[in-house]
Amino acid sequence: MNVILRMLVDGDTGSTSDWDDRWNHIKKFLERSGPFMHPDFEPSTESLQFMLETCKILVIGAGGLGCELLKNLALSGFRNIHVVDMDTIDVSNLNRQFLFRAKDVGRPKADVAADFINSQFHIIVCGLDSIVARRWMNGMLEHILNLSLLVYEDGVLDPSSIIPLIDGGTEGFKGNARVIFPGMTACIDCTLELYPPQINFPMCTIASMPRLPEHCIEYVRILLWPKEMPFGDDVSLDGDDPEHIQWVYQKSLERAAEFSITGVTYRLTQGVVKRIIPAVASTNAAIAAACATEVFKIASSAYLPLNNYMVFNDVDGLYTYTFEAERKENCSACSQVPSDLHFSPSSKLQEVLDYLTESTSVQMKSPAITTTMDGKNKTLYLQSVASIEQRTRPNLAKTLKELGLADGQELAVADVTTPQTVLFKLCFTS
Ligand SMILES: [Zn+2]
Repeated sequence: MNVILRMLVDGDTGSTSDWDDRWNHIKKFLERSGPFMHPDFEPSTESLQFMLETCKILVIGAGGLGCELLKNLALSGFRNIHVVDMDTIDVSNLNRQFLFRAKDVGRPKADVAADFINSQFHIIVCGLDSIVARRWMNGMLEHILNLSLLVYEDGVLDPSSIIPLIDGGTEGFKGNARVIFPGMTACIDCTLELYPPQINFPMCTIASMPRLPEHCIEYVRILLWPKEMPFGDDVSLDGDDPEHIQWVYQKSLERAAEFSITGVTYRLTQGVVKRIIPAVASTNAAIAAACATEVFKIASSAYLPLNNYMVFNDVDGLYTYTFEAERKENCSACSQVPSDLHFSPSSKLQEVLDYLTESTSVQMKSPAITTTMDGKNKTLYLQSVASIEQRTRPNLAKTLKELGLADGQELAVADVTTPQTVLFKLCFTS
């Protein structure tokens, strides 16, 4: 389902309904100089006109963070705001979620989406809770950049072809805001290690040395449930079934009492079982404000943007700082260099697949691996189509040598985390 809305601030599309002094608060930043201005900025009335009339912003995500962002942007003078609500979007199908028209039939979907974004938007803002969707969007902006680089034969970057990405994320009392200039500054995938796959407690802690109420709940969820199967042999734990949660809650209380741990509640039990990280309105507000400020700074060019990553944490007191995340030389999203995959010729394809999903710097979901042999494309493994999965599954147990792969061979990998295939180079270790 496409959810692309045009926000009509005030219910009109022009600026005729402005009352006197409506934008006075904004004008103070744009029409007079100040000590924090961009050194090259000349105060004028043009920036505000650009923001009100021309600048188009794509906001991705309309959840807690996204809605807060929309309000801030609208009150800052932006009137052309498009919203894509990722809640209704199936991450496995992101390419399809942008508008496709009859004339686009037969064109690569990533190219159509790239054209759509490139021809319309000046700035993209992400307020998403999904890392996959965020990485996809990041990859899309890199794709747009590559397409426009093809136009300039000398390969010199034209700064106007860059669509900045402002990315905000929150998790409970923690949040971050960052500014990405594709091709120039660190992208989402450059710093993938900053997004840990999921918080899991060490098994030894859960099994024998619990200290937190969460450890007790995890003990029941991971170890006790499969052992006792309280609702029958085939019944797996369902976080939405109150009887299941009640059982886990009671057993967790017993476990907690044994180790003199307090704090196990029904609500916490459900939160742990369903992996709910509670949304904190104040964190969303702080991060949305930081993101909207960056949009304002970039759209007006009046101030230097954040360089380039802000961390916010109010778990215990209030802590915030910024640092410059660095580009990764062989980033799979923003560098043109294929990443090296170091494996021995006797490694199995399964090991390569495990690496692609488990490595913190790659973190793919269901990679499809293809290569070229004797001038022909060969699918080594593909999960998403059942018939192909079945046909290629035996390859997983074969060694790279048995598959006929050579040292230096390029593997093209497609995944939901990126709109384009990612190239890897096989480097044999002895
Ligand atoms: Zn990168």
